[in-house]
Amino acid sequence: MKPTNSPKTYRVKSFGCQMNVYDGERMAEMLGEQGIVPAPEGEDADLVVLNTCHIREKAAEKVYSDIGRISKAGAEAGKQPLIAVAGCVAQAEGEEIMKRSPAVSMVVGPQAYHRLPEMLDKAVKGERATDTDMPAIAKFAALPERRRTNPASFLTIQEGCDKFCTYCVVPYTRGAEISRPYSDLVIEAKKLVDAGAKEITLLGQNVSAWSGENDKGHKVGLAGLIRDLAKVEGLARIRYTTSHPADMDDDLIAAHGDTPKLMPFLHLPVQAGSDRVLKAMNRSHTAESYLRLLERFRAARADLALSGDFIVGFPGESDAEFEETLALVDEVEYAQAFSFKYSPRPGTPAATMDDQIAREVMDERLQRLQAALNRDQMAFNHASVGKTCEVLVERKGKHPGQWLGKSPWLQSVWFEGDAAIGDLVQVELVEAGPNSLAGKLCEMAVV
Ligand code: SF4
Repeated sequence: MKPTNSPKTYRVKSFGCQMNVYDGERMAEMLGEQGIVPAPEGEDADLVVLNTCHIREKAAEKVYSDIGRISKAGAEAGKQPLIAVAGCVAQAEGEEIMKRSPAVSMVVGPQAYHRLPEMLDKAVKGERATDTDMPAIAKFAALPERRRTNPASFLTIQEGCDKFCTYCVVPYTRGAEISRPYSDLVIEAKKLVDAGAKEITLLGQNVSAWSGENDKGHKVGLAGLIRDLAKVEGLARIRYTTSHPADMDDDLIAAHGDTPKLMPFLHLPVQAGSDRVLKAMNRSHTAESYLRLLERFRAARADLALSGDFIVGFPGESDAEFEETLALVDEVEYAQAFSFKYSPRPGTPAATMDDQIAREVMDERLQRLQAALNRDQMAFNHASVGKTCEVLVERKGKHPGQWLGKSPWLQSVWFEGDAAIGDLVQVELVEAGPNSLAGKLCEMAVV
């Protein structure tokens, strides 16, 4: 019999990367299995799970201010919610959160959230608990079945990272690289398709490092897994993110040429264009080797859309070295890319490096970089006008009869007409914008 003060409603707020969003969805499913329902929009929840990200500066301070705001609102409403802190700040701060925030009942790391239900049972009885254990594989085995999902769904296949880029906390908050077993992934992919997925994005902090043994006992890498998942009936599209240049092998390049269900989109972070800066970042590749690698991918799939990640203002980065980043961008012509100012993360080698760059210099460099990236994204969208392509309908658009979906090149496309969420439709791209394209639904659209 559940104690009377057991939470009836929950809200899971996920910050940061797609893997955190995936973890947030899994935590929500687990709470659903406990009979707890999502709190209606705008209403306070009995249980709030802050699924935190540790990548940005002052990430931990932001969590403490969120906790303060939630417990103040609870006090004013005369009903204190149960608060759980999950994700990478929970992993990095652990017990410290308990000391600083009496309002928090549960602190759970990214590899231990499968224990949230039992922590909740304790919290309802007033027992506060912290769990930052790292049993990555065990976690997945303990998670409930995927019952409902979106047409474009996510599947974590790999966790952790062994690269130790000098600016990054992931190896410390997510642990060493682990690959989920091949058989578990095939089973979960089939369940996702049964639950409504038409597209699956394979997720990992370093997804290209995935390896396993297939059902014939042969050792396979990411390419082998992708080819086998492409045989799953009802699965129309496959994507993967996030990769590291050092783990991109010939077989993965070939898969972009021989596996039609693998979408023509590659997200491959580079971070900077200067070899001296890349070395100081411990990125284990040069600008030249990165460019040559992209050339080989483009040779395998001519219409491949490229995406990247960039950091400006890494300690010691000179004006000339920043120009090398702009030169690399000019050469690659990204279809889209993410760019950030360097932010020192506690416990990372770069945080104590000399020559930390002044904020106004970082601001100026980020503006110039984003102007170049936006120019190329617009050019890529313009070059797509006139093409007819398959769009996966993901949700309703702003206006009646309008739909929004993604092209094979991960562009947002909106169109009007007779369609439904989950449909794969043929659309002619008729107008380009900076972040999306307008399309015209073709006759006999649904494929
Ligand atoms: S490869 Fe990515 S996740 Fe791994 S340490 Fe580098 S930036 Fe972090």
